Amino acid sequence: MNAIILSVGDELVLGQTIDTNSAWIDQQLAAVGCEVIADAIVADRQETIEAAIRLAAAHADFLIISGGIGPTADDLTRHALAAVMGVPLELNEAWLARLESFFQKLGRAMPQTNRIQAMIPRGAETIENTAGTAAGIHVKSGISNLKSEIFVMPGVPKEMKIMFERDVLPHIRAKGGGAVILSRTLHTFGLGESSVAEKLGDLMKRDRNPSVGTTVANGIVSLRINARLPSRDEAQQQLDSTTDACRAALGDLIFGADADTLPSVLAASLASARKTICTAESCTGGLLAKMFTDIPGSSDYFAQGWVTYSNEAKHDRLGVSENILNVHGAVSEPVVEAMARAARRLAKSDFALSISGIAGPSGGTPSKPVGTVCIALAIPPVAPGGGRGKGGYQESRVSSRTFHFTGDREMIRDRSAKIALAMLRFHLLDKPMPF
Ligand code: ATP
Ligand code: MG
Repeated sequence: MNAIILSVGDELVLGQTIDTNSAWIDQQLAAVGCEVIADAIVADRQETIEAAIRLAAAHADFLIISGGIGPTADDLTRHALAAVMGVPLELNEAWLARLESFFQKLGRAMPQTNRIQAMIPRGAETIENTAGTAAGIHVKSGISNLKSEIFVMPGVPKEMKIMFERDVLPHIRAKGGGAVILSRTLHTFGLGESSVAEKLGDLMKRDRNPSVGTTVANGIVSLRINARLPSRDEAQQQLDSTTDACRAALGDLIFGADADTLPSVLAASLASARKTICTAESCTGGLLAKMFTDIPGSSDYFAQGWVTYSNEAKHDRLGVSENILNVHGAVSEPVVEAMARAARRLAKSDFALSISGIAGPSGGTPSKPVGTVCIALAIPPVAPGGGRGKGGYQESRVSSRTFHFTGDREMIRDRSAKIALAMLRFHLLDKPMPF
């Protein structure tokens, strides 16, 4: 079973209102195993609505429309549907009586414009609307020349949801063949989408079930796994085995699943290891500290952060020597190492991360172009009893790297903070960073 969702409204195609109806309906249909093959939005124009209905109704088992069944001149969905079906609109006496009594209860005469809300294409049925005045419209398949069974609902999200859950979804579920779709998302960071796809190989074949697809957002490449099977048990089993196969293909590049983020995963690792972190940032201006402290309960592991933007601040606050700053420049591995070492000592934390780079758009040089970012991680010394606490402070071990990011200022800063998180993550995993 498959479906096409059509949302009607000028405000949707003007970008003034985001079409949330179709996203919500998509989720409801996935849960009952009905595959959505297209979501479309169209303007309040009769010929456009007709064209969309004609196209969709020739393809899908179900066509689900919301919007354009109000009482005003710009509500044209019912007219378009009747035109495509090749039938007239007819007055539904029962719904008219409902409308009249609704207005009577309000103590008002029914405006003549509302009469249209009791008109439906010949052969169609009304769908109960417990939250508004517009009747929904149901066209059974076989009634017309159209392949689809059609449901038309109000655009008002609250009214649409009530009608959909009460009268539309049970209908689709009953005809849906009982398939169940279960989904899981795995998140990776560090490699581009095509490199991830290459490692996944045949797992990404289009006709595979469960299917595996990738999406990218802010440097995070996510794998979306969808299992569509007759029963929940089978779907769960197949979802788990495909998840295992993806994990085998990508290893530690996968940092989390579903709602996990890089900061939330690190927060959990630091908290469970009872370790603390501090930050010393230049070009990211506190973004790394923000990522750590976005997570509730961050005081358990986040000790302190410095934003040392100028050379003076790096020298005055963190004691980075003027000599190192002059010889190597603020964006250099010796400087970030000094920043991380000082931060770890001053905050008395287990770890320190430091970042210094050129976020642009200006400030680049031929030897250090925009996007050059140095990051250091300071960790406790190897000697037992070292680090902090009883044995007194012992000097950190520090490692650093220079990265070259592309993109605008926002992207460079975002990737810098995320790479810093990744450096800490791979240290906690006791593995070399694979990118
Ligand atoms: P009626 O609900 O009376 O049948 P209609 O559906 O076209 O007619 P509108 O007055 O156009 O109703 O829209 C009602 C409200 O619902 C508006 O605020 C509109 O932005 C919102 N709305 C309509 N369609 C959607 C949609 N697909 N997603 C989110 N909001 C929507
Ligand atoms: Mg509308």
